[in-house]
Amino acid sequence: MSNTALQEYYAELSKSYQDFQAQNLKLDMSRGKPCTEQLDLSADLLDCLSKSDYKASNGTDCRNYGGIDGIPEAKKLLSWILDAKPEEIIIGGNSSLNLMHDLLSRAMLHGLPESEMPWCKLPKVKFLCPSPGYDRHFAICQHLGIEMIRVNYQDDGPDMDQVESLVAADSAIKGIWCVPKYSNPTGIIYSDAVVKRLAAMPTKAPDFRIFWDNAYSVHHLTDTPDTLLNILPTCDAAGHPDRVFEFASTSKITFPGAGIAMLASSPKNINWLKKQLNIQTIGPDKLNQLRHVRFFKNEAGIKALMKQHAAIIKPKFNLVLDILESELGGKYIASWSKPQGGYFISLDTLPGCAKEIVAKAEAAGVLLTPAGATYPYGRDPEDKNIRLSPTFPPLSELRLAMELVVLCVKLVSTEHELAARGL
Ligand code: PMP
Repeated sequence: MSNTALQEYYAELSKSYQDFQAQNLKLDMSRGKPCTEQLDLSADLLDCLSKSDYKASNGTDCRNYGGIDGIPEAKKLLSWILDAKPEEIIIGGNSSLNLMHDLLSRAMLHGLPESEMPWCKLPKVKFLCPSPGYDRHFAICQHLGIEMIRVNYQDDGPDMDQVESLVAADSAIKGIWCVPKYSNPTGIIYSDAVVKRLAAMPTKAPDFRIFWDNAYSVHHLTDTPDTLLNILPTCDAAGHPDRVFEFASTSKITFPGAGIAMLASSPKNINWLKKQLNIQTIGPDKLNQLRHVRFFKNEAGIKALMKQHAAIIKPKFNLVLDILESELGGKYIASWSKPQGGYFISLDTLPGCAKEIVAKAEAAGVLLTPAGATYPYGRDPEDKNIRLSPTFPPLSELRLAMELVVLCVKLVSTEHELAARGL
């Protein structure tokens, strides 16, 4: 564009932006929450137990204390989500993030089975953080004083050359965060090669752990989903049976905050953790476990429910992708993920623009995830990543919000271009 054409284009964009501001919008695309229609899919969960239905298959009265690792039928059914054996899992409370937080806190306070001392007694504890990643993982590290080392993501997982050389050299690196399937926010799935390298790589820390947050393992948006190599047997075969803690929950299957969290690991880790849990609690909410078993019935029940979720949210993903393509496609000012599952679309703008775009959207009434949140310490080195969460708003609101988002991308990119030309 000539300078004059660019200035005219900018004036047009500014006018459209003012029109948006005049609408006094109040829309929220900031967090990956299910919408009301999705929550309604699990309405039967609220009354699928009766006064006389409170016993687990082994005779346990689910109304009473006990059962630290979960009732047998819940372990059997939910182990499918984790791709683990029932004996490899512990059913927790309502939140997998809670399990992750507590596990890291335990490591800091007491150490893991192979630790020479509690991690908090070490001069430094570090974690690898493939980025862009899940902001709440990074928040846990920051809260516990664990130094975060940024690792780049590629299309099939973290940059393994980087990961391997870092963990081989530094005994302070105690772990890595991974969202291996429909990653938050990039939507990628780890390739078999990446899973095998993670399982096999030599690590300087003997108590190194992979925090395998498989939060979206059954959250497909297609009928022909890609598969993820099962990390537990892969680590076992590579001679590192205790390397992984795997997490998942039913938060985005039934009710977030009122679902069931779960963890899978080696028998050694599970036994160690059960002893610790026994001190922390007399047992989890077994009635909620029984309720979920009655509601799901079986694996096919979970699959059918996930298809219903997909039918509600796929049009929302499609709408966001269509607007991105029609408004920003071929303009060389943005690129974005096209996920086959999960909850997010990851938008990359021109370097140095993301913060301004998010601020402009917010000033016109659309709340997005803060720019930088997808990086350790909230610092995106290129200031270009924005996480879009299409699931919660109704389609009509989502359309409006996205029209504003793409407008802000164009507006800020144009401002940068004008500045670069000294205009
Ligand atoms: N892990 C990831 C990757 C997530 O995206 C989320 C929810 N946004 C969670 C964990 C939280 O799960 P829960 O509700 O089980 O704590």
